[in-house]
Amino acid sequence: MVHHCLPRCGNRPVCRSLSTWLILILACAATGSRAAENNKNPPQPPWFGSTAGVSNQVLSPFTPVEISGDRVSVWGRTYTFGGLPFPSAIAARGKDLLAAPITLSGVAAAKPIVWNAVICHALIHRADLVQLATRADSAALRCEGQVSVEYDGMVRCDFTLVPRSAPIAIDKLALEIPLRPEHAKYLHFWPGKWNSVFNSAALADTGYQGPFQPFFWLGDEWRGLGWFCESDRGFFPAKKDQAVVIERQPGRVVLRLNLIARPQTLDQPLHYTFGFQATPLKPAHPDAWDYRICHLGGYGIEERPFAVPGAAGAKTTLLDYLARSGVRTICFHEHWTDIQAYPQTTHGAALRKLVRACHDHHIQLLLYHGYEMSNIAPEWADYHDECLVQPRAGGYKRKPEQTAYIVCYRSPWQDFIADGINRLMDEYGIDGVYLDGTSEPWGCRNAAHGCGYRRGDGSIGETYSIFATRSMMKRIYTIVKSHNPDGQVNVHQSSCMTTPTLAFATSYWDGEQFQGLNRKAAAGEVLPLDTFRCAFMGHNWGLPAELLWYPTGPLRRSEAMSLGLLHDVPVRPSGAADIDVMARIWRARDELGAAQAEWLPYWENDRYVHTGATPIKASLYNRPGKGLIAVVCNVGREPCAARVQLNLEELQQPPQLAAHDVVTGREIPVTAGKLELSLQSLDYAMVRLEPGKRD
Ligand SMILES: [Zn+2]
Repeated sequence: MVHHCLPRCGNRPVCRSLSTWLILILACAATGSRAAENNKNPPQPPWFGSTAGVSNQVLSPFTPVEISGDRVSVWGRTYTFGGLPFPSAIAARGKDLLAAPITLSGVAAAKPIVWNAVICHALIHRADLVQLATRADSAALRCEGQVSVEYDGMVRCDFTLVPRSAPIAIDKLALEIPLRPEHAKYLHFWPGKWNSVFNSAALADTGYQGPFQPFFWLGDEWRGLGWFCESDRGFFPAKKDQAVVIERQPGRVVLRLNLIARPQTLDQPLHYTFGFQATPLKPAHPDAWDYRICHLGGYGIEERPFAVPGAAGAKTTLLDYLARSGVRTICFHEHWTDIQAYPQTTHGAALRKLVRACHDHHIQLLLYHGYEMSNIAPEWADYHDECLVQPRAGGYKRKPEQTAYIVCYRSPWQDFIADGINRLMDEYGIDGVYLDGTSEPWGCRNAAHGCGYRRGDGSIGETYSIFATRSMMKRIYTIVKSHNPDGQVNVHQSSCMTTPTLAFATSYWDGEQFQGLNRKAAAGEVLPLDTFRCAFMGHNWGLPAELLWYPTGPLRRSEAMSLGLLHDVPVRPSGAADIDVMARIWRARDELGAAQAEWLPYWENDRYVHTGATPIKASLYNRPGKGLIAVVCNVGREPCAARVQLNLEELQQPPQLAAHDVVTGREIPVTAGKLELSLQSLDYAMVRLEPGKRD
């Protein structure tokens, strides 16, 4: 027998906090004083129930949701609906993603389920949200749905399957998403694993089969479609690892969610909540090249003497050096405050001084926030039971001595963080936040805030708080953008591309998941090209991307740069020497006017360039008549001589070009668009070609 209760997602249930409140008032009235440390109902602090960042306002660069008949459009994407509560067609970046409508197929009362659409009409039409009611009937089941399309293109489908004459036997039930194969080249799902990039790759020829995971995305290099669900409640697969199947069929790739594969008897309505989100999420600009982020924030960097790398005896301050090099954004990691992931600091005077100095240098300052609650936070005693994920996870230690554990944003901690960031922006005029893991909807079974669910066998199933984490992210984005329209929400999300939460990031930073890997014979295997194109590139997600590199990781800095630059992705500088290289690249991009150039990536630029050898890849930034930048990489295991032949006619460049290596400054002979470069394995050359100059 199947029975379910629709999990209401997003903010924590209002009724619950109200009842807590009433109990609290009674408790306070009874004792007449603040509760003791271990009182379960402490007085409510000012942040409790905060509405900071809660808004219906459509924030830039998103545009209002539009509806025309059965079509709902947001920036860059259009969803068409019929009588089922799922899109029947989806267009993203000008292409239709689906080969056929998304459907619920199966066998009920011993007959194949055939749906007749009955209704689909708008319930709500606001700038930020369109809500539709849908209904479809089959012989044995009625499907009643409510579909919400929000302004970032997130589609939430709440639906109920009602037996038309209870009880009925359901032998099979599956949600089927048939995609056009050309738009289902890559597969990303979450959670992944640390020390691996296995959850982002080219879709195998044999497809995919696996257990329930809360997020799947299939796409190409420019667009894609995500499906998500907070838990496996209501999934009855034949085998655990057959809950999700991706199958290649003629003319389509089908993502099938096997809801019921073990026969069930349905004697009451069955509820599900699924989400869909097509990508790209946002326009391509500003991008990570515009943000020019470095991770070198610290108190006193505006006044402490700093020795300029490579310039003997020259002294300046680090902040001066960063500004002169072209840095536009500084992230100040966790040490801006003594309490881990806490939105207040005892270093207020130093922070104010740093913000002022950064602004004097036209640099934005982002402060670290995360995904944890520290056991030295004043709120720990009263709130950790209610707010941490269960089973308890994390356990990060730092100085001053403390341990921090992962929180769940379905809990009141969402209000705490929103209220705190709002105050920080008010008080210090910071330019935004660097969010470490905040966008990840961690698995959680903490019933104290509504997570987890009881399975038929009595065990507790895990939930992933996608909608609450989305609410956290949306509130932070709203707070930052309402203080500063150019402000940033820069997210470190290594391995996790959950679009319903990441839509409210201004850029993402990916790559920590493979930093612990051993270097293999070919370092390229650490981060294969298909993995990069799938999840690290940003173009298909509509999010500016940066590659994360640690000196302790498996790749040399130049190798990470090689892979990043080939995909139009900067590698965030982690030290002053990195800044020096990035400064040369920024300068060359400025000289070309890279923002006005067309990016011609290696996998689709045969018309414009040939490299003479398969392991040599070249991506171009081309401004017709004004020159270009070529990023040439050797992705093979052996050293290789690259013979690059540019098709100057196709590129609309003059026959006479002068070339130099952007990083070394070395001149490179070029004749009729032909140049030779000698590249070690995973080495790169970034070459600027300028018109009108002769050797
Ligand atoms: Zn939770």
